[in-house]
Amino acid sequence: MNSLSTLDVKYVKGIGPKKAELLASELGIRTAADLLRHYPNNYVDRSKCYTVSELNGEIPYVQIRGSFIAMNVVGEGAKMRLTASFTDGRRTMEVVWFRKIKQIRESIRLGQEYILFGKPTRYGSMWQMAHPEIDAPQSVGAREGFRGIYPLTEKLRSRGVISRNFFVWTQAVLESRTVADPIPQSVAQSLGLMPLDSALRQIHLPSSAELLEKARYRLKFDELFYIQLDIVRRGRLRHDNTEGYRFRRIADWFNNFYNRCLPFPLTDAQKRVVKEIRADVNTGRQMNRLVQGDVGSGKTIVALMAMLMAVDNGFQACLMAPTEILATQHYETLSAMTAEIGLNIELLTGSTRTAKRKDIHTGLRDGSLHILVGTHALIEDTVEFANLGLAVIDEQHRFGVAQRARLWRKNLLPPHILVMTATPIPRTLAMTVYGDLDVSVIDQLPPGRKPVTTLLRYDNQRQGTYKAVFNQLRMGRQAYIVYPLIDENEKLDLRSLQEGFETIRQTFPDYKVAMVHGRMKPDEKDYQMQLFASGEARILVATTVIEVGVNVPNASVMIIENAERFGLSQLHQLRGRVGRGADQSYCVLMTKYQIASETRKRLEVMTATTDGFVIAEADMKFRGPGDIEGTMQSGMPFDLHIASLATDGAILQQARLAAEKLLDSDPDLKMPQNSDMIRYMSTIVNRSADWSKIS
Ligand code: ADP
Ligand code: MG
Repeated sequence: MNSLSTLDVKYVKGIGPKKAELLASELGIRTAADLLRHYPNNYVDRSKCYTVSELNGEIPYVQIRGSFIAMNVVGEGAKMRLTASFTDGRRTMEVVWFRKIKQIRESIRLGQEYILFGKPTRYGSMWQMAHPEIDAPQSVGAREGFRGIYPLTEKLRSRGVISRNFFVWTQAVLESRTVADPIPQSVAQSLGLMPLDSALRQIHLPSSAELLEKARYRLKFDELFYIQLDIVRRGRLRHDNTEGYRFRRIADWFNNFYNRCLPFPLTDAQKRVVKEIRADVNTGRQMNRLVQGDVGSGKTIVALMAMLMAVDNGFQACLMAPTEILATQHYETLSAMTAEIGLNIELLTGSTRTAKRKDIHTGLRDGSLHILVGTHALIEDTVEFANLGLAVIDEQHRFGVAQRARLWRKNLLPPHILVMTATPIPRTLAMTVYGDLDVSVIDQLPPGRKPVTTLLRYDNQRQGTYKAVFNQLRMGRQAYIVYPLIDENEKLDLRSLQEGFETIRQTFPDYKVAMVHGRMKPDEKDYQMQLFASGEARILVATTVIEVGVNVPNASVMIIENAERFGLSQLHQLRGRVGRGADQSYCVLMTKYQIASETRKRLEVMTATTDGFVIAEADMKFRGPGDIEGTMQSGMPFDLHIASLATDGAILQQARLAAEKLLDSDPDLKMPQNSDMIRYMSTIVNRSADWSKIS
C-alpha cells in the first residue's frame, strides 16, 4: 500500500490530469491508495436480471436484458436528448441520454441484445432509465456477481463520471500489482484478518456475500486500529512524560471520613472508581481522569474522597462547578458530610464579599484551607494556593479547554485533574475522542431509586396531562415545565416561553409559578430559582438553563414542551432533575400531534429506558457521532470511510486491544518489522487536533 500512497491518481489508466483534479476537489482522492479507499456503499447482484414488469421503485439499481426497438433525437440545443424504447420482450421502457448523444447513437444497434444497468425511475405510466451502463450479455456473464455502487457527488455526475468508472479504475490499479499488507503478522494472524490485498479486491468486486463481509471487517478494523494505535501511543507518551505529585498515603482524613462519616455504603461502581483514582495519584505522574457517571450516580462523594487523599498528603484540593447554584450546592453538601472531621472548606464565587474573599486568600496561601469549592472564579490568577494537588471539575463540557489549562499552572507541577461528567458518552466515542484520557465509569445507581416514569403525549392530550400535574401539586409536590430555547430563533422561543408561563399561571391559579431563562440577569435568575428551591413557588417554567445543577428532591413531575426539538442526551439531562426524592416521579414529553415516525422512535427510547449510556448510544445512532454533545465543539480528528462509531463498537474494542498489545511489545513503534505499518499509518491518520490537552 505504501507505493500506492505516492502514486498520483492521474497516472491510473483512464483517469488523466483533468479527472484527477476533479477527484481531488470533490472527494479528496489524490493517490491510488485514496482511490482504493473509496469504497462502494452499496452493491447490486449482477447475476440477476429484472423484467420491466418487476420494477416497483424499491430496488435502487437493476439490470434488464433486452433490445432497443427505436431511437430518436428530440429537442434542440441545450435541451437536446436522445431517447430510445427498450423492450424485454414483453414490456418496454424508455431510455434517455443527455450527453454524448452522437457517440451513443452510433454505438447502439437496434434489435441486438444488451444488458442495461441503471437506476429506474417512474415517468408517468412509463419506466425510464437515464444514462444506463450498456453491456453485451456475454461480457456481463464473465463478471457475474456483485457490482459496487460508488458514492458520487453532483458535480462528478454532471461531468459524466459514473459509478462504473470507479470500478474500472480500481480494477486497473489492482490488476497490475499485489498490495503489500502493512499490518504486523502477529496482529493479522491472531485475529484471522483477511489479507489487505484480498480485502481490497473483494470490496471492489466481491465474489460472495461472505467474503465481502470478511473484507469489510478487515477494512473497518484497519481504520479503527490505526486511530487507536495513534491515540493509545499519545496517551502513554503524555502519561509517561507529565510528572505529577505523588500521594503516597491514605491517612487520617480519609480514614476518619470513611469510618465515621460515610453517609451510606458506596456502590461497587463508586468503590471501583475510588480505587482507580487511588492508583493513579500514587504513580508520580499527573492524573488526567474523566469520570463518567449518570445523573444521580453519586459522583460527588467520589470527588470528596479523592480530595481527602490530597489533604492526607499535605496538599489542597479544589472543586470547580459551572454555575453559582451548583457550586453552592456542592459546598453545602461537602461541608455537611465532613462537619464531624473538621475539614476546612470554603466557597468562592463571583458574589463572595470582599472581606470573605480576603480570608479565603489568606487561608489558601498559608495552607490552612483544605478544600476550595467555587465557580470559574477560582481559576483567577489572584487565587493562589499554598500547595494545590488536585483539581476536580464538575460537568466538564461547560468549561473551555483554555479555562481548564489554567488549572495546570496553579502549582509547580500540574495538579492531578479529575473531570466529572454526567453526559454519558458512548463507549466508542469515549475511546476515540477521549481515548488518551483515562476514563472511569460509575455505571450503577445507588440502591432504591425509583426510575422516572416517562410518557409521550400529544398536544391534544394536554388537559389530561395538566390534571396529572395538578394531582402531584395537591400532594405537595413541585413541577417543572420546560421549553426549548434554540439560538437561531431566540425571540420566537422566548415568546413561546412567556406565553407558556401565562397559560400555566391561568391553569394553576392557586400555585405560585417561577420562571427562569438564559436571557435573565443573574440576580433575577437566582431569585427565581430560589423561589422554587425553597418550595415557595411550586411550579418552575424554564428553558434548558435548568439542565445542570438544580437539586429539588420534592419536584416529582416534569413536562417537556416540543420534546421533538431536543436531542436524546439533552432530554436525559433534563429528566435527571426529577426522581431525586423518594416518590415516584414522572416526565411527560409533549409533541405536536403529527411527528415523523423517525422522531417518534427516537422519543420512544426515552420512554423505554433511563440508562444514560443506552440513550447516548441511541442518540449517536440517530444523529451520527459528530453531533453528540461534548464532541460537537471539537469535531472528529479523523475521517472514517467504512467503519462507524455507531455500529462497529465490537471491532473498535478489538482494534483497541490489538493496539495496546502491539504498543506493549514495541512502545515507540521503532522495531523494523513495524516500519511499513508506521509509514502506512501516517497516510491514514492525519490529525489536525491535539487531543492530549483536553483537560
Ligand atoms: P451526581 O453523580 O449526579 O453528581 P450526586 O453525587 O449528587 O450524583 O448523588 C446523588 C444523590 O445520591 C445524593 O443525594 C447522594 O447523597 C446520593 N448517593 C450517592 N451515593 C450513594 C450511595 N452509594 N448510596 C445511597 N445514596 C447515594
Ligand atoms: Mg453532580
